[in-house]
Amino acid sequence: KLHNTILELKGNIRVFCRVRPLLSDDGVETENKVVSFPTAMETLGRGIDLTLNGQKHSFIYDKVFLPDASQEDVFVEISQLVQSALDGYKVCVFAYGQTGSGKTYTMMGKSRLHDQKGLIPRTLEQVFETRQALQSQGWKYEMQVSMLEIYNETIRDLLIPNRSGFDTSRTENVGKQYAIKHDANGNTHVSDLTVVDVRSSNEVSYLLERAIQSRSVGKTQMNEQSSRSHFVFTLRIMGVNESTDQQVQGVLNLIDLAGSERLSKSGSTGDRLKETQSINKSLSSLSDVIFALAKKEEHVPFRNSKLTYLLQPCLGGDSKTLMFVNVSPDPSSVGESLCSLRFAARVN
Ligand code: ADP
Ligand code: MG
Repeated sequence: KLHNTILELKGNIRVFCRVRPLLSDDGVETENKVVSFPTAMETLGRGIDLTLNGQKHSFIYDKVFLPDASQEDVFVEISQLVQSALDGYKVCVFAYGQTGSGKTYTMMGKSRLHDQKGLIPRTLEQVFETRQALQSQGWKYEMQVSMLEIYNETIRDLLIPNRSGFDTSRTENVGKQYAIKHDANGNTHVSDLTVVDVRSSNEVSYLLERAIQSRSVGKTQMNEQSSRSHFVFTLRIMGVNESTDQQVQGVLNLIDLAGSERLSKSGSTGDRLKETQSINKSLSSLSDVIFALAKKEEHVPFRNSKLTYLLQPCLGGDSKTLMFVNVSPDPSSVGESLCSLRFAARVN
């Protein structure tokens, strides 16, 4: 049975699937294959088959990245979206998948080595290079970044300035409301959220490091919070052309979503149960919103979660959305992989 619902989706929403390589930690031999890629011409580079209990499930996306795809191969496919943001579009790129499937590797990368850099650092390089190149045509750009995480339906600022640079302790988030407001121009304001003017990709890299540090501080304190929270990186781009008087305002949101794994509800109590429920709620709200938009439904349930409400102006209208479904080839993850593939294909 071919789950090709995604092909019927219209508009500015695309879904890419990326399968990470088997890692030595996965503890399996490569011949134990649960993931394969159909070679028929019509689905080449877009199909993925998953075998669970002897049954094969087939899916088609806009593109499937095989385990040997490099970070550059992946970036090439999104660089057009980055250009769109410079042209004044609102863009969202999400990474969806269970913990360990490669979301952070895709978004951030692994080390500072160029080969390993993920979409966020590559995007920044392109943005600032293009800005430089467009100067000769009269364009002047101002750029602003903010970085936040959403944990249990609560926003946390990851860039609060303090005397030694930026806060990495989280204590400064106490008592802040982070109320989300959208104005008539489609701009989003989050009260109390730190927004930093940036002039180079190095500056943003520094801020990213601080933000990641803020996240991982919470990790030990709060149950690996970084995989239980959504990380939202936002770059606002305001361009003015002094010779033609043209103006553009683009936004680029790059989002590393919370792990999509289903935690057994029976075993979780208290904080853990609340965490699970809020992750399930926001991921299913995101799916509801994306598919309501794709099907051009009249009512789009943006308000059902913080994440979708925050991103509302960047999801509807003529904005552009890309969802990465990250999948692990590890046989012990096959159940979760199937759920992830279904999430994006929406066949159930
Ligand atoms: P997630 O953020 O979804 O929990 P990670 O991005 O942390 O998953 O990936 C889990 C592990 O797999 C990490 O050690 C990461 O470096 C590695 N990994 C993920 N994707 C790739 C890839 N495409 N190539 C090489 N290693 C990868
Ligand atoms: Mg991660």
